[in-house]
Amino acid sequence: MFYINFRKSLLAALILMSVSTAQPSIYSIFDKVGCATDWFLTKGDLSEHNQKLFEEMAAKLGIQDRNIKAKNSGLFLRLMAGYQNALAMQHLNRTYFNDTVLNEMSDDAKRFLMAHELVHHRQNHVFKRGLAIMLLKCATIASTIALAGQNNFNARYLSNGINLRIARLSLWKLIEAQIMQGQETEADTKAITIACADPEFGVEALDSLYHPNATDWPLYAKVLLLFQKATIWLYDWPILKQHAPHLVSYKERVAYVRSLKKNKNQINS
Ligand SMILES: [Zn+2]
Repeated sequence: MFYINFRKSLLAALILMSVSTAQPSIYSIFDKVGCATDWFLTKGDLSEHNQKLFEEMAAKLGIQDRNIKAKNSGLFLRLMAGYQNALAMQHLNRTYFNDTVLNEMSDDAKRFLMAHELVHHRQNHVFKRGLAIMLLKCATIASTIALAGQNNFNARYLSNGINLRIARLSLWKLIEAQIMQGQETEADTKAITIACADPEFGVEALDSLYHPNATDWPLYAKVLLLFQKATIWLYDWPILKQHAPHLVSYKERVAYVRSLKKNKNQINS
């Protein structure tokens, strides 16, 4: 559900994309890069059954020709992005899941989660976000130069930001967070409206990511989950809502996914 920002490979992939005239072949190049990183990023393939479900959802989204690989995430990814989280990396032509966590879900919940990740590939979210980050960095540098010498709240908010110890608050950072949230919402939406995942099983998948049963998890994963639980309530905090209305809490995400069910029923009836 979250990305890792490998800026160098992303930049290389963007350059490759811009010079390529034959779009399908670009994915085989990404695949080669992904293949070269498998020893470090993965613990092998997903189970055969899970790979079949993944291929089924790729076909529903019309991107089966890209031959995107579904891999079992390795220790590095689990430490960086959370033990249970899934990650779409278009520049490596791969999506990473924790196969053990995946196997605790029903097949329909897996379908929703896989479709969500594949929408990130389909809509080129990784590249769009990379481009947006570069442009926002340029805006940050330009505004910092333009507002140099001014030390009031507004000037800092509109330039390189206010240091809040745990995060930096600035207009550009908020725009970046808005873009990321927009992509997550689009992935949830299209997983249901295009890949036909069932919203109620979408809720099951989200529940197992936000509120997992960690009894059998390794110690480091339990510690990471404690950090997640310590911050998750912040998204419902009224003051945060006031200043960062784009941030979506677990409850809001579930309500949105369920609202797609109602829309779907209305369309069908
Ligand atoms: Zn996502």
